[in-house]
Amino acid sequence: MKLAYERLCQHLTSLKLDTALANLETTLTAASQAQQSPVETLERLLAIEVETRFERRLRTNFRLSGLPMKKRLEDFDFEAQPQVPKAMIQELATLRFLAQGENVILIGPCGVGKTHLAVGLAIRALEEGRRVAFTTLHQLVSKVHQAQQRSRLDGLLSNYLRADLLVLDEIGFLPLQSAEANFLFELVNARYQRQKALIVTSNKTFSQWEELFPERLLAVALLDRLLHHGHALNIQGESYRLKHRREAGLAPIYSGS
Ligand code: ADP
Ligand code: MG
Repeated sequence: MKLAYERLCQHLTSLKLDTALANLETTLTAASQAQQSPVETLERLLAIEVETRFERRLRTNFRLSGLPMKKRLEDFDFEAQPQVPKAMIQELATLRFLAQGENVILIGPCGVGKTHLAVGLAIRALEEGRRVAFTTLHQLVSKVHQAQQRSRLDGLLSNYLRADLLVLDEIGFLPLQSAEANFLFELVNARYQRQKALIVTSNKTFSQWEELFPERLLAVALLDRLLHHGHALNIQGESYRLKHRREAGLAPIYSGS
């Protein structure tokens, strides 16, 4: 007959509780030193397993999402960017917009923190176990070209529909050709119909969006879908990095002198 301790190790192994197994010794030692109750000890052991799994899943999902940086909402300096209302971001951070299938549209010039905020919200969604996909419009356009050549546009569309939250970063850096603009419209429209949330960032104001599209009507129709259940935020502030350089008494990076 095996000892209870050996059987416990076997149970943990067959249940694939590897982290709990690896931490069994130290947890039991700490428990007896601190005279913990059985409930406390079991809780401690399983908490280590749960936390480790959560971290692992988060890392994998972060990698799969295509998010370009690990910026959190907690890292955002609201005082440096008074045009970003903290209350609005805190409300968005509750992810109610995600549950309701609403969109977030962040408009503003380069460097004001649009991508940071989009990524911060996306990481909140990842932490809640939601599927997140991130793409710049540039990446989207090159995927559209590849898919077009292989007649796989439908597959590409359903890929982007699968995510609970899709971030479309940097609309406006390049004007769109007809096929690209049509795909973008299809995508926004399909997500709208399925009530699936989007976060969009752009360096162009809405009135300038018409210039990005080969047909004005397409821009109007796309904005109509985006803004129907949308939270728009216009950040017309100064670039965060440039502001810091200026405040530190440093010359602008591109001073031209
Ligand atoms: P945008 O997408 O609007 O061009 P980014 O989000 O890429 O700007 O911001 C540029 C850099 O400045 C990033 O490293 C970002 O983390 C940082 N940044 C911008 N605004 C803030 C802020 N208010 N607080 C902290 N970091 C910021
Ligand atoms: Mg950006």
